Amino acid sequence: MKNKIALEEHFAIDLTIDQSKIYSLPEVWARLKANLLDIEQQRLERMDAGGTAFSILSLNSPGTQGIPNVKEAVDVARRANDVLAEHVTRHPTKLGGFAALPMQDPEAAARELERCIKKLGFHGFMVNGFSQVGNAETVVYYDAPQFNDFWSTANALGKPFYMHPRDPLPSREPIYDGFPWLTAATWAFTMETSIHALRLMSTGLFDRNPKLQMILGHLGECIPFNIWRIDNIMQKAPRGYPGKRTMGEYFRENVYVTTSGNFRTPSLLSTMLELSSDRILYAVDYPFESFEEAAQWFDHCEISENDRKKIGRENAQQLFSLS
Ligand code: MN
Repeated sequence: MKNKIALEEHFAIDLTIDQSKIYSLPEVWARLKANLLDIEQQRLERMDAGGTAFSILSLNSPGTQGIPNVKEAVDVARRANDVLAEHVTRHPTKLGGFAALPMQDPEAAARELERCIKKLGFHGFMVNGFSQVGNAETVVYYDAPQFNDFWSTANALGKPFYMHPRDPLPSREPIYDGFPWLTAATWAFTMETSIHALRLMSTGLFDRNPKLQMILGHLGECIPFNIWRIDNIMQKAPRGYPGKRTMGEYFRENVYVTTSGNFRTPSLLSTMLELSSDRILYAVDYPFESFEEAAQWFDHCEISENDRKKIGRENAQQLFSLS
């Protein structure tokens, strides 16, 4: 399929590049590093080779979320967004941007989001899970009350946000001690991200901000597979559940999922059955995954051509008001 739109495509700047080192083997780090830092050379060629016409780019994870010093997080977010804006300006028909935000300071994050949407023309923002605030061991999730005004700002701006994974802190998740192969993208990313998403859904974020849309990668971080069970159990044992609607209702009305890094037809079909093809979007997760491999799967997987067009391009055009 030609002219796909891809939504979870990462870049890095000099101040964040080393954060990605642990996610690659030493022998491939040099190449991954070069691909993260490059925005407009081989990236554009590979997009072309994989039939992707437009990518919305985002800073590598954890990015600003992993910078406990608040002032530094504010500075790095601004710098990353300015670097991205320069490239987007040079290639407006091929590249778009998700803002990186210093969520350590909700007011500063709201101001930076307004700048990115109104002045830089970005398409929304990406947060890489919780933020470390003040010191490496203090974390904040975005259902906390100090984010209420931030979310009102985001809702008013009318652009979606992408909840992207990061690893939990080892001090908070001892279950991974001694099992490094279960951390990161194998399993820990999905668990950390899905719980954060469920916290946001269940604490009224989408009651207060009904137009707000959350995007989850990796075919929904396991939530589509479990959403019926979540509602079924909570109906019988709500245990203080504060949501006005069921989790399934928030999931179907305020959440989109992408194909990033989960190129598997049975999983896609199951997600389509739960969420419908209207709420699934194409994404690769470049350069951790390849445009070619994603396309080889997506262009030929056994779904209807109508659904392929919706997932590959049309849903994103609609969600981001792209021409
Ligand atoms: Mn990613």
